[in-house]
Amino acid sequence: MLDDLDGRLLIDGQLCPAEAPDIPVCDPATGEQIGVIGHATSQEIEAALASARRAFRPWAALAPKARAEHLHRLGNVIAADADAMARVMTQEQGKPVNEARGEIMKLAETCHFYAEEATRVHGETIPNDTTDFDSTVIREPIGVVAAITPWNYPAELVGWKLCGALAAGCTIVIKPAEITPFTALAIGRKCIEAGIPQGVVNIVTGPGSVVGQALVEHTGIDKIAFTGSSKVGLHIQRSATSVKRMTLELGGNCPMIVTKSADLAAAVQGAARRSFRNCGQICIAVNRIYVARTLYEDFLTALGATADGLTVANGLENPKADLGAMASAEPLNKTKEHLADALEHGARLLAGGHAPEGFEKGYFFRPTVVADCTHEMQIMTEETFGPIVGVAPFDTLDEAIAKANDTTYGLASYVFAKDADEIRYLSRALDYGNVAVNNVDAGIINAPYGGRKQSGVGYEHGREGMLEYMNFKHIRTRFEVPEGA
Ligand code: NAP
Ligand code: MG
Repeated sequence: MLDDLDGRLLIDGQLCPAEAPDIPVCDPATGEQIGVIGHATSQEIEAALASARRAFRPWAALAPKARAEHLHRLGNVIAADADAMARVMTQEQGKPVNEARGEIMKLAETCHFYAEEATRVHGETIPNDTTDFDSTVIREPIGVVAAITPWNYPAELVGWKLCGALAAGCTIVIKPAEITPFTALAIGRKCIEAGIPQGVVNIVTGPGSVVGQALVEHTGIDKIAFTGSSKVGLHIQRSATSVKRMTLELGGNCPMIVTKSADLAAAVQGAARRSFRNCGQICIAVNRIYVARTLYEDFLTALGATADGLTVANGLENPKADLGAMASAEPLNKTKEHLADALEHGARLLAGGHAPEGFEKGYFFRPTVVADCTHEMQIMTEETFGPIVGVAPFDTLDEAIAKANDTTYGLASYVFAKDADEIRYLSRALDYGNVAVNNVDAGIINAPYGGRKQSGVGYEHGREGMLEYMNFKHIRTRFEVPEGA
């Protein structure tokens, strides 16, 4: 599959060769080059935008049911080729094949979810001050969307935007992260196979600072749907040169609170899953854990042992591994930096702290647990985006809440507790867009997902994730009593 995608862009329904295919893409597990992508030229960007603009009115004019059928077909062709698509993802991103396959299947589910949502775009009739008027509110697609996506979930983060936009009746130009472009191009190929009309989906590749920036500044874009760091999100908000709708899904620094009533084993299992899955390279990763002092040492012992039991391997050779390679040197270096800073400030290393043996090449690191952490340490106050978690004890719930909310981020938070009063108190007090209680899956496709504060604006998932691609139109009509009534 990779060979057919090498050096391609998706413009006007064709996977066409890029004019400047000079950016190498490497496997993070081996460092070997797996292909090249194009550095999209300004002519290619213009061509993609023009094609999305031409396709917009006809696509928006289709009956919702017809758009739904396209999305269902897309979900089916993606699911049918999940194995090959998963291998593409593993080769560029590093996550084990089974995990990559799970992500592809979730992408297929997203296609089906938004296919169904497409047929449920309801309006509203609003009473006026006098009975001779009707106010009708209808929803219309915004227009041409630019989707700019990161490398950690190369399929789902494209999919949420693609499916929400297409369901609403928008067309799209996607700029995937430079280091994981082939998963996006594989999705583009599936759009062709599913018979999605030409121009509805376009993909341009290249550096964010050039190709992404060109989309941000283009007056032919009606909406930007961005997932990435808070730094780049803020830069995008500042550098748009015309008024555009924006959805910004940004960074996180997510806390977990384990109260004295918690099921300890469940809390440990949840902590390990959400701290280390995808090597912690997930915006809703558990970065820091606050544990009731009575459970603290037992929790640490169990989490350390669980972390030590996880397997780290080349995810292509060992599809079932718990952790594969990290996606690039950048998050690996930050992980090491946060670890060193924590230890310097007096934290206790309980598990990991080094690369697994026998992995001289590639960006590998053992899942790492550090205890006795304080907010003097980067690990508790910054997003690491790596397989490391900091743990600290607390004495009162209010202390745990204050520490959990002591951040500029507001994406997701986690609570493990059995006591209903504790659960209610904590879930209301946590200043986050998502609170997961006794589980660590803070985002599901059926419910709105979004951050507060520096974690972003707008929502993906759920009906809200489609309405982000729609404008409201208020039609106010005056009626008269018909003659002869
Ligand atoms: P990033 O550096 O912000 O990049 C994200 C995307 O923006 C990439 O496609 C990048 O292109 C592009 N980009 C960079 N500079 C740009 C510019 N000036 N104009 C337009 N586009 C530009 O983020 P990342 O390192 O890929 O991803 C990690 C971050 O994403 C973390 O902070 C994580 O928390 C966040 N994230 C958030 C969510 C969420 O739902 N809230 C989900 C996943 C990840 P290139 O990379 O090709 O240069
Ligand atoms: Mg980056």
